[in-house]
Amino acid sequence: MLTRRKFLGAVAAFVALPSVSARGQQPDEWGSPVFDLHFHLRPRPADNIAHLDGAGITKANLLSRATATEQVGAVRSAAPGRFIWFASADVSRADSVDALTQAIKSGAQGFGEMKYHVAADGPELRRAYALAAELNVPILIHFQEVDHFENEGTWSTGFAAKFESVLKAFPKTTFIGHADAFWANVSADYHNEAAYPSGPIARGGITDRLLGDYPNLYGDLSANSGNNMLSRDAEFTRDFLRRHQDKLLFGSDCSCADGHGAGVSQANNPAASRLAGKCVARETLTVLQRSTTGDIFRKLTWDNAHKLLKIPV
Ligand SMILES: [Zn+2]
Ligand SMILES: [Zn+2]
Repeated sequence: MLTRRKFLGAVAAFVALPSVSARGQQPDEWGSPVFDLHFHLRPRPADNIAHLDGAGITKANLLSRATATEQVGAVRSAAPGRFIWFASADVSRADSVDALTQAIKSGAQGFGEMKYHVAADGPELRRAYALAAELNVPILIHFQEVDHFENEGTWSTGFAAKFESVLKAFPKTTFIGHADAFWANVSADYHNEAAYPSGPIARGGITDRLLGDYPNLYGDLSANSGNNMLSRDAEFTRDFLRRHQDKLLFGSDCSCADGHGAGVSQANNPAASRLAGKCVARETLTVLQRSTTGDIFRKLTWDNAHKLLKIPV
């Protein structure tokens, strides 16, 4: 029998629920719905959904191997409407062209994360840049010049010296830059001294200039690299987000278990210990929220991704 006390308890529980968006999907913990551009596929569908729900994220882009079509399908059908996907394949192999083409035919909406031990302007990546233009999909690239641990190696090298020539040579390719070298070079005084430089940002850095000059370049704010850049210099950050409000996209690259920092949030990366025990998604959404207006926040966390990826809002 439903007693008055139980009834009131049920009412209180209902009232205590977080507000639900007008579209009846996810609670809008961040004031507007959030799209995570940089979310690596986890083997079990429930683990993917747990991170989104825990961090207050509505939708995400699953970064996966071109061959993971089945796993991607399982995650997408476990949470209809919440996941799109990008595919990657080892660009040093000739069959990567077929693998990437096939993934796009199977529904992938971009290439990424492209993280290989090749030069940013080398023949392997150039082949992928040309294919991205031909298939009319964006390509998300990890740029890194400084090891996180001994013998890690470098990824898409030569960003600072060479990437502008790539942007010029491939005007029909949509590039999304990400990771250490991309974000460290927002500051003009950076010369590969550290994976994650700290302190105030010197204006006129390469990444800042390229984002302003090239309509085919976007920036993915994920990982410790993006969070670190946003956290260095509050005044610069506010201005940077305002100037590039149509070119920047929120992403997490978080590997924590629950959207609250449990487990390991920056897998195998001792250099990113500043975010140990924290959820990168939450940390970056928090710094974005306090660094910009509600309108720009919504662009960075929702509108820009939908526009770029041509997803109906
Ligand atoms: Zn990366
Ligand atoms: Zn997390």
